[in-house]
Parts: sequence; structure tokens; C-alpha cells
Amino acid sequence: MKTYQHILLAVDFSSQTEIIVNRAYDMAQQNTAKLSIVHVLDNIPMPDTSYGTIIALEDETDNALLEQEKAKLNQIGERLNIPENQRWLIWGVPTQEIAELAEKEQIDLIVVGSHGRHGLALLLGSTANGVLHHAPCDVLAVRLK
Ligand code: AMP
Repeated sequence: MKTYQHILLAVDFSSQTEIIVNRAYDMAQQNTAKLSIVHVLDNIPMPDTSYGTIIALEDETDNALLEQEKAKLNQIGERLNIPENQRWLIWGVPTQEIAELAEKEQIDLIVVGSHGRHGLALLLGSTANGVLHHAPCDVLAVRLK
């Protein structure tokens, strides 16, 4: 069986995120792979900062919503022992940003939920579907009920 070297966990912080988190962690352990995590900010406005589209997680901002999202990402990152430079908070369209990050970071497996915030009515949510079509690597869609 192919072993993966660098796994990217994509989280939207919806209620079933824990299931995806655990699955990605197990996959990383089994493959002795590097694990990175990404959340794409698609629901809060971009403040007028000099960051560009990628947020440095150690920088403080005065945007409360952004701080909340950073805290959630850091909480999972700490728990899974993911180094700070492998935690990504990016503004943009999730499908596109996840695929681009995977390319840039030489990811060979992306782990997403079968649906999350956007896809409750669908068998495969819109982000999961988009990632599947645009990713440069394998995609594991963790089945969520
Ligand atoms: P969806 O297709 O939007 O219902 O979401 C399916 C899965 O895509 C979620 O369980 C996450 O793994 C991932 N995902 C959705 N939105 C985002 C986001 N903004 N940032 C990172 N991952 C996301």
C-alpha cells in the first residue's frame, strides 16, 4: 500500500470536525507522515492588514472574529502537535486555496469531511467535491452522517 508523506487536514470547524481531525491524525500516525492543517476564511471580511491572504498565526490582530478562528485552529494544532508553520489560515475560496496549498506544500493526501457547513443536503458537499476535482493529489473524504 502507498504510504503518504505529507497529509493536509482541512477543517471548517463545523460540529463534526472532531471526526475528521481524528481520522487525519490516525492516517498521519500510520504513515509516519507530516501533518498540516488549514482553515480557509470564507465567511469573515478581510481586514485592512499587511498580511496578504495568509495569516501569520503568532501575530495579534484587533479583529475578534479572526482571533476566534485562529484560536480554534491553534487549539487543534496544539492537540495534534502540529508545528505552527504547518498551521494555515488563508483568506479565499476554500476549494481553490486548499488545492493551491496542497500543490505548494507537496501534500500527497488531503483529508476533508464528506460535508460540512455548506453541504448538509448533499451526499458530497460542495467543498469536498471541489477539492476532489482540483486537488493535485489523493483526497480522503471522511464520511459524515
Ligand atoms: P462542504 O463540502 O463545504 O460541506 O465541506 C466539506 C469539508 O470540506 C469539510 O468537512 C471540511 O473538511 C472542508 N471544508 C469546508 N469548508 C472549509 C474551509 N472554509 N476551510 C477548510 N476546509 C473546509
